[in-house]
Amino acid sequence: MKVGTVTEIKKHEYRVGLTPNSAKAFIDHGHAVYIQKGAGEGSGYQDDMYEQAGCILQDTAKEVFDTCDMIVKVKEPLEPEYRLIRENQIIYTYLHLAADKALTDAMLESKCIGIAFETIKGRNGGLPCLKPMSQIAGRLSVQEGAKYLEKPFGGRGVLLAGVPGVERAKVVVLGAGIVGTSAIKIAAGMGAEVTVLDINLDRLEYLEDIYQGRINTVFSTPQHIQECLADADLVIGAVLIPGAAAPKLIKREYLKNMKKGAVIVDVAIDQGGCSEVSHVTYHDDPVYVTEGVVCYCVGNMPGAVSNTSTNALNNAILNYGLHIADKGAETALKEDAGLLEGLNIYKGKLTYRAVAEVYGLEF
Ligand code: NAD
Repeated sequence: MKVGTVTEIKKHEYRVGLTPNSAKAFIDHGHAVYIQKGAGEGSGYQDDMYEQAGCILQDTAKEVFDTCDMIVKVKEPLEPEYRLIRENQIIYTYLHLAADKALTDAMLESKCIGIAFETIKGRNGGLPCLKPMSQIAGRLSVQEGAKYLEKPFGGRGVLLAGVPGVERAKVVVLGAGIVGTSAIKIAAGMGAEVTVLDINLDRLEYLEDIYQGRINTVFSTPQHIQECLADADLVIGAVLIPGAAAPKLIKREYLKNMKKGAVIVDVAIDQGGCSEVSHVTYHDDPVYVTEGVVCYCVGNMPGAVSNTSTNALNNAILNYGLHIADKGAETALKEDAGLLEGLNIYKGKLTYRAVAEVYGLEF
């Protein structure tokens, strides 16, 4: 099969669909890999690294789309890419079709095969191609929060770990899922005093067990959230109700009782955010101040650490990609029920129920 990767054109998207290592894996399986010149640069992979891996470089995205049977991308195709997608071509990428009717229409019209990373199901359940991005966002949330707590960045001027004789910062994590657990790991590791709130007592029990009393676990109620926020230096919003907008757990009035210069990192912003005052920001201007609180609401946090994110993503998508290339889409999908869950579009038909329901289209 001819497999290709193009430069991502979304604003501040520096990840790339295939690393030179992944490209080499496809080549070792007998496939040919075509890379648009410069595609890997944002992730630290220069053209010569792809050449050394045995890839063929092409000047434009159009050439890659015209040549290849399968395109491995990161973000959903954007408008200039719609017309490049060909009939029967496999588009293997994050698609998030439920949020984008124009893309859904374009994908249907092209009669391509759209396999979405975000809906592939793992053998033990879970979403293996989404998980690494949640892990990264969770870990990064504390790193970013620590930065914006610094005075020159608008924060309270507080060091997460404190020093002997000066108390540590208080970090409050709302939601004990993948993002929350990853945030806790870093915050606790940096020496902060961590409190996590969730409505799922099993998650709280698990965390209580593994941290053996080194973090506080609190059942999530509006009253408890309000109390924890009033005391917090850094708040990480990491809640999710699957398939729904994030619940607005942080009310504007709660911010009035927070410390001036405290920081909220609302990781759940890609689902609308879990704070009433959250609105999407971008890496080039990530924070704003409301009621004296610094709010960080970047919708694609993993893009900031593109090398790590590209590698984590490649780890998750490579084996599925090889399976598709080796067997062809139809056989690969038939052989792996989890991969089949990733099929959103098949030659002019919507094949993912939740997306069809959003648009009232035939499934
Ligand atoms: P997850 O399903 O693993 O965890 C969500 C947790 O929220 C669950 O433990 C759930 O019980 C808890 N929860 C639900 N309602 C709650 C409530 N009222 N109070 C407290 N906890 C509650 O989800 P995840 O993978 O950790 O993702 C969390 C959010 O981060 C999602 O919105 C996801 O889309 C987002 N995310 C954003 C980025 C970004 O770049 N901004 C990157 C990755 C993930």
